[in-house]
Amino acid sequence: MAYCWCYEANTEHSKASQTDSRNLPSAFPDDEACLEYLKEKRYPGGITYCAKCQQDRKHHRVTGRPAYACDYCGSMISPMAGTIFEKSSTSLRLWFYAMYLMGSTRCGISAKQIQRETGVTYKTRGACSSRFARFS
Ligand SMILES: [Zn+2]
Repeated sequence: MAYCWCYEANTEHSKASQTDSRNLPSAFPDDEACLEYLKEKRYPGGITYCAKCQQDRKHHRVTGRPAYACDYCGSMISPMAGTIFEKSSTSLRLWFYAMYLMGSTRCGISAKQIQRETGVTYKTRGACSSRFARFS
């Protein structure tokens, strides 16, 4: 399943009507909240399947890591795996803010603006280019 962050942000944006970027911190107070959000997006209803056990297992949050682990074998799953977040040392919350900015301007914001607003830099041609905007 792939979707565009920009579209997502626009949806949130219109739902909250008069919201602006200052509202983001209340929706995503910390990295933890952002991680939860990502998890719900990628694993609606929670992570249930463990690839190592090859069956459904309960998963728990790993303390100190942006990951969830199988209750049985401890195999870890990160909602950030395969996304731009995976190798980034930037805080999730900053990324969310950067994407929020892009979404609220319908992808019309430039990388330079993002960098100025958030300090986040990324190497991609545009906000909607596939690697940046999609999860798969
Ligand atoms: Zn397992």
